[in-house]
Amino acid sequence: MEEDGACVFCEIVRRRADGHIVYEDGEVVAFLDARPVVRGHTLVVPRIHRQNVLQMDENETAAVFRCVRRVAAAVIRALHAEGFNLGANTGQVAGQTVAHAHIHIIPRHQGDAFWC
Ligand code: 5GP
Ligand code: ZN
Repeated sequence: MEEDGACVFCEIVRRRADGHIVYEDGEVVAFLDARPVVRGHTLVVPRIHRQNVLQMDENETAAVFRCVRRVAAAVIRALHAEGFNLGANTGQVAGQTVAHAHIHIIPRHQGDAFWC
């Protein structure tokens, strides 16, 4: 698994790599996914490097989910989406490709092409 120094999401959090940030506060950052499965696909991450959602403490978990609710509502409003999926792939076997905890927010429209 990646160390802090080699982590692309840590680089985005620290603004050392490009990321389209849509929300940030002292604990969390939300940014658009570079390879969105649908328009508006957004990732919410803790500022601190944690390998996956189980590694976050209770405060970090609360902060991430406060942000997820806020960002999901904003994305849904902006895109007139009818619903959304939340996802946290955890472990390589589950498809986790970036070892920094993150929640996917995937806006959904009737008849869209994304299946999960
Ligand atoms: P996972 O596969 O770990 O559940 O999700 C990782 C997500 O991060 C993928 O949807 C992938 O497109 C996205 N991603 C990977 N590298 C970057 C990057 O450098 N910038 C951004 N914005 N997203 C990335
Ligand atoms: Zn990281």
